[in-house]
Amino acid sequence: MNACMPSASVALVPRLKADDEHRGEQDPMSDTYRAIQVTKPGEFTSVRKPLVSPAPGQVRIRVEACGVCHSDSGTVEGTFPIDWPRFPGHEVVGRIDALGAGVQGWSVGQRVGVGFLGGSCGYCDFCRNGDLVNCRNQGFTGIHSDGGYAEVMLARSSGLVRIPDDLSSVDAAPLLCAGLTTFSALRNAPAKAGDLVAVLGVGGLGHLGIQYARRMGFEVVAIGRGAETAELAKKLGAHHYIDNAAVDCRTGADRNLGSGPRLWKPQARRRAHRNSCRR
Ligand SMILES: [Zn+2]
Ligand SMILES: [Zn+2]
Repeated sequence: MNACMPSASVALVPRLKADDEHRGEQDPMSDTYRAIQVTKPGEFTSVRKPLVSPAPGQVRIRVEACGVCHSDSGTVEGTFPIDWPRFPGHEVVGRIDALGAGVQGWSVGQRVGVGFLGGSCGYCDFCRNGDLVNCRNQGFTGIHSDGGYAEVMLARSSGLVRIPDDLSSVDAAPLLCAGLTTFSALRNAPAKAGDLVAVLGVGGLGHLGIQYARRMGFEVVAIGRGAETAELAKKLGAHHYIDNAAVDCRTGADRNLGSGPRLWKPQARRRAHRNSCRR
């Protein structure tokens, strides 16, 4: 399970544009880079930081895109214990431009992604059992280390994923958290292709979950709030849409009337609900 909290929304921030004095693309020759840091709850500031070499086991990345996840609010509002200043952002895609000592299997120029889990240690009991997600020595990107709201980022090489050439950085970024969370839920559910699956919410996670579920062969029910979301849900691949603001999806009751027709036969409804809750 992804340790990150579910997103309420995911929007992309393109590569940081320079300030008025320095507008334009990143200068690869510069020995500084721009970042957006949080210095106290709710306060962002734009800063220019000196470029530093990656520590042993780390790579340095030129950030090309970073998603915005609801969990970033934990950094911004101080929900997580944070040592400020801190750069949020844990849906990061960029190119490696420097390797720290001892890094193997990665090369300068390679396009990589960094998610919420900042990289496993390889030697704790969980790692030795192959359970890297629950590594006891793993920091969270944007919380224990600076994230991708920056032109440059340092990351542990064990936390990297490779980005396919035919996937743009902007398209890939939200998959590093919201995409992983929803895909893992579907991949690890007992439901098989053809089964009925409900996706609760058509937001930052849900809009990806619907697309995954449809392409994995499920019959997909999207549950949103408001009739205006129906068109989007269908466009994303949902076979059915339930407006949860008008209909109680647990009982099929019309919220305005207090009762109403059953949406599905009870067995199917129970199965859909069960599948929507599993991770
Ligand atoms: Zn470990
Ligand atoms: Zn996240």
